[in-house]
Amino acid sequence: MKKLLVLIINDMVIFPNNEVRIEYDNNYDKQMVDIVDQIDDNLMIIVNPIDDGEVTLTSFPKYGILGRLKLKMNVPNGKTRIVIEGLDRVLLSSIVEDGYYFKAEYQEVVIEESEEAKSYFSILMKSLENYVAKVPYMGNAIMGQLNGIESLSELCDLIVSFLPIQYEAKKRYITTIDPVVRAKYLMEDMNRDLKFVELEQRIENEVEKELDASQKEYFLREKIKLMQQELGEGNNKETDVERIRKKVSKLKCSAKIKEKIKRELDRYDSLNSNSPELGMIREYLDWMINLPWNHYTKDTNDLVKVKSILDSSHYALEEVKDRILEYLAVKQNTNNLRSPILCLVGPPGVGKTSLALSIAKSLNRKAAKISVGGINDEAEIVGHRRTYIGANPGRIIQGIRKAGTTNPVFIIDEIDKMTKDIKGDPASSLLEVLDPEQNNKFSDHYIEEDFDLSQVMFIATANYVEQIPYELRDRLEIITISSYTEYEKLDIAKKHLIPKEMDEHGLTPLQVQFDDDAIMTLIRNYTKEAGVRELERMIATLFRKIVKNILLNQDVMFYHITDSVIEEFLGKKKYYFMENDDVHEIGVVNGMAYTVFGGDILPIEATLFKGKGDLILTGSLGDVMQESCHIALDYIKANGDSFGIDSELFEKNDIHVHVPEGAVNKDGPSAGVTMTTTLISLFKKVAVDKSVAMTGEITLRGRVLGIGGLKEKVIGAHRANIKKVFIPRENEKDLDDIPEEIKKDIQFVMVEQYMDIYQNLFA
Ligand code: ADP
Repeated sequence: MKKLLVLIINDMVIFPNNEVRIEYDNNYDKQMVDIVDQIDDNLMIIVNPIDDGEVTLTSFPKYGILGRLKLKMNVPNGKTRIVIEGLDRVLLSSIVEDGYYFKAEYQEVVIEESEEAKSYFSILMKSLENYVAKVPYMGNAIMGQLNGIESLSELCDLIVSFLPIQYEAKKRYITTIDPVVRAKYLMEDMNRDLKFVELEQRIENEVEKELDASQKEYFLREKIKLMQQELGEGNNKETDVERIRKKVSKLKCSAKIKEKIKRELDRYDSLNSNSPELGMIREYLDWMINLPWNHYTKDTNDLVKVKSILDSSHYALEEVKDRILEYLAVKQNTNNLRSPILCLVGPPGVGKTSLALSIAKSLNRKAAKISVGGINDEAEIVGHRRTYIGANPGRIIQGIRKAGTTNPVFIIDEIDKMTKDIKGDPASSLLEVLDPEQNNKFSDHYIEEDFDLSQVMFIATANYVEQIPYELRDRLEIITISSYTEYEKLDIAKKHLIPKEMDEHGLTPLQVQFDDDAIMTLIRNYTKEAGVRELERMIATLFRKIVKNILLNQDVMFYHITDSVIEEFLGKKKYYFMENDDVHEIGVVNGMAYTVFGGDILPIEATLFKGKGDLILTGSLGDVMQESCHIALDYIKANGDSFGIDSELFEKNDIHVHVPEGAVNKDGPSAGVTMTTTLISLFKKVAVDKSVAMTGEITLRGRVLGIGGLKEKVIGAHRANIKKVFIPRENEKDLDDIPEEIKKDIQFVMVEQYMDIYQNLFA
C-alpha cells in the first residue's frame, strides 16, 4: 500500500488535471510543503476535511486527490506560494498521525465509463456551450481547454473547476465517483447559475432605461454584493474593491491607464473567491495603483546649494560634480528636462554609488537603486508576461515603485557584469530603458501599459569600462573615478569618514582624536583597496570599541589614537605592500601592476641553470603574460650583439621566470619591458637598482607601446618607495592626472624604444 503526506485545504478544491496556486503563511503547511518539495516525485495527498473545525483523524472523507507540487517560491510578505497540480482521485484506506503530520494510505480510483456515461458526455457538452454563451464572465477560457478531453469524468472535473459555486458544494464533486451523477449535479448547478444570470440581465435591461450612468453603476454594484452574499462569499474582497476604486479615482494617471485598471478591477470583482486568477489580478492591481504614474519632485535650482551638498558628502570627484552642475545649468537655461545618462566607472569603494545617492539628495530627487550584476535574463529588466506563474514586473519598474516618483535618480549598479544567454540579452533591454527616443514609452511585460521614464536621471556604475556591453557604452557618458592615493585617502578619512562615523557612534572630537600617522597605518596595514570602503569599516570598528570602553570604563573619557594604539584595538597588522628592500639583485626587476586593490609594484624574477635552452614560467601568469615573456626572450636573442650577450648562454641553459602573485592576468602586455630587463640583467649579470620600476608593452622589434592604469601604477610605485619610473612615451599625457605630491618624488623617463631603457640602466 502506498503512503504519502496529507495537505489539508479548507477553502478551495483541487480537481484532477487542474492547477491551483495557494499562499501560506503558517509554519505547519510551510514545513509540510518543504518535505514534499524534497521527495523525488513531489507527490502528496490533498484532502478537504468533512467540516471546518479542528482536524482530527475523523475529519477525513473517503476520497482525496493525489497531487504534485509543481512550484514553490517564497514571496516577499513572508508567505510561501505553491502551485499544485491535481492528478487523480484516490481512495483513502487509512489515515495515521505521523508525529506532526498526517499520512494517508491510498489507492488510485479507476473509473470505468458506461454507455450511459458516453451519452452524458455529449449532453453535458451542449449544456456547457449554452452556459458559456449566456454567462458573460465565463469567457472562452474553458472552451480552449476542452481539446483532448475524452472521458465524462475529466469533462466534469474541468467544468466544475470553472464554475462559480461555493466551496462546500464543490467538495461533493471530489467524493462523488460516478461521473454520471457528477454530470447531473453539474447541469443543476449550471442551470441555477443561468437563472441568476438571466435575472441579472433582465434587471439590467430595465434599469438601463431609467437610470443615468452613475446610478446604474451603484445599482449594479449593490446587486453584485447581494449575489455574492447569496453565494456565501466573504466581504473582504468587496471592501478591497471599494478601497481600490477610491484609490483609482484619485490616481494621477492617463485615462487609458485608469480604464485598464478599472477593467481589471471589474474582473477581480466578478471572480469567485476560489478562482485561481484572483490572487494574480489582485497583485497586478496592487502594482498599477501604487506606481508613481505622474508624481514629480521639483529639482533644486540653487546651484550653489547643490555644489555644497556634493562637496560635503564627497571629497574631490570634481568631474562628476561639474557634470551635475552643468546639467542643472543647462536645464534652467533651456528648460530641457532630458537628463544625461552618466556612468561612473572605477574600482570598488571609490564612492560611485554613494555619490549617485548624494546627487539625488542635492537635486531634491528620490533615489532608486538596482543591481544588474550577474543577470542573464531580459525578464529581469522588462518583467515577465502575466501569464507566467510567479510573474513580476522587471527591476526597472520595481525600482520606480520603491522610489515613489516619476523622476528619481535611478542607479543601475554593475552594468559591466551582465551576461547574455538563451534567456535573452539583458543589455539590449537595458538599451531600450536608457534610450531617450524610446523611454517615454517604456513597456514592462507585466505592467503592459507604457510608463514614462524620460524624466528619470539614470546613473550607471561599473568597475571596468571595457566590460560594459558595447551598444550600451555608446549611450553613456563615461566618467572615470580612479583609485585614491594614500594622501587622498588620508584627506577623505579626516574630512569625511571620521566625522561621519563619529556622528554615527555618538562620539565627539572631545572624546577621540586621531594622529595622521595612525590613519596612515589604517590605510597601509589594515586595508588593501582602491577605494575607502574598508577604511570606513575599520574606523567604524575602532569607534565601536571605543564607545564600549567609554561606557564600561567610565574613568577614561578621552582617546588619542596614535600609531601604537591601533594594534591594541584592531589586532595585528593585516597587509604589507610589496616591501622594496634596498638589496640590488641580479635578475630581479620591478614591474608595475594594477589590481582591484589599486596599484602595486610587481617584481619579476629570473634565474638560469644548465640545460637545453628551455623557458620555464611559473607564478601568476595568464596567456598574455606568457606571450610577453616569449617576445622578450626572442627580442633579446635577436639583438644579443647590441646587448653584449653571448648567444651560447641561450643554448646551454634553461631559463626560469617567476611572477609573484598579485598581478591580474590582464596586466600581461604591460610587463613586457620588465621581463626584458629582468632577462638582460640575468644574462649580463648586472643588477638593476631596486628603486627603479617600469611598465610598457614590448614588440618583437623593441618598440614600447602604451599601457592602461598609469595613475594607479604610479601611486603604487610611490608607496613602495620607487624613485625612477620608465613609462611609454604614449602615456606621457596621463601624467597630468597624477597628484603633484607624487610627481615631485619620482623621476619619469619616457621611452619609445626598449634601447632607451637599456642605455639608461646597462650602458
Ligand atoms: P562604490 O559604489 O564605488 O563601490 P561606495 O559609493 O559604496 O563605493 O563607497 C563606499 C564608501 O566610501 C561610502 O561610505 C562612501 O561614503 C565612502 N567614499 C567613497 N569615496 C568617497 C569620497 N570621495 N569622499 C567621501 N567619502 C567617500
